[in-house]
Amino acid sequence: MEVLAVDIGGTKHSLALFRDGRMIRREAYPTDLAGGRAWMVRRLSTLAREWAGAAHPQACGIGFGGPVDYAAQRVGRSMHVGGWQDFPLAAALEDALRVSCRMDNDANLGALGEYSAGAGRDVRSLLYMTLSTGIGAGLLLDGKIVRGADSLAGELGHIPLEAEGPPCECGGRGCFEALCAGRAIEARTGRSAAHLLQDPAFRAGYVPVLARGLRIALLLLNPERIVIGGGLSKVGHVLFDDLRSELRRQLPPSLPLRIDVQPAALGDDSVLWGAKTLAEQILSS
Ligand SMILES: [Zn+2]
Repeated sequence: MEVLAVDIGGTKHSLALFRDGRMIRREAYPTDLAGGRAWMVRRLSTLAREWAGAAHPQACGIGFGGPVDYAAQRVGRSMHVGGWQDFPLAAALEDALRVSCRMDNDANLGALGEYSAGAGRDVRSLLYMTLSTGIGAGLLLDGKIVRGADSLAGELGHIPLEAEGPPCECGGRGCFEALCAGRAIEARTGRSAAHLLQDPAFRAGYVPVLARGLRIALLLLNPERIVIGGGLSKVGHVLFDDLRSELRRQLPPSLPLRIDVQPAALGDDSVLWGAKTLAEQILSS
């Protein structure tokens, strides 16, 4: 069985081909944000045609870096990528690629990818958080993605943490994303967030806020494991060690929740593996 997996983000897009459960080809390219949806559909169909000589995918899964109305298979409103609102991306790619396509929000597919092939293979419930230019989350309970009534479950980035905090792109103030995501940190400091996070003094101020956001998710969901992916998760064990001890400090001893926080095992490919699993679900349904 061959399936195609696509990951569409604001800064880059990736394409991978899976044969019998193994990734056999993967490429990533910069996204032309100004080109919008028309550029992206043209681009993906060109790439798929280039790959077609050696590949005959039977289905395609798509992770989109913004809100997705899963039931309607349309892109929802996105603060980061203008021009995509209400676009039936899966149908447009189905026309262009001539295979069945299904899409979901990239954080949901990150969760599905880590659950099926990464850091969540041995658990039944998992919260995946992407800590990158923005913050997103995907939740799996008993192996099923929880999308919510409006496909907006997991918008963890917009949980307000500080009433008088910095403004957020959503129109709110003091959101988790406005305090802890890469784009906000870089706008505030003029420095690379990944670089700053190497510095213990910076982490001493940052990690308590990161833990405050995750504490809400832990208390609400009590997941078996939290998996963190995205560019800033690559800072590595120094960040994870600080985060685990801070969560232990912040959570009340009277509520002995497990604190199992792990880095994503699939690195930049969590979403591609999730898109692969989504494509396989088309073929098995
Ligand atoms: Zn916000």
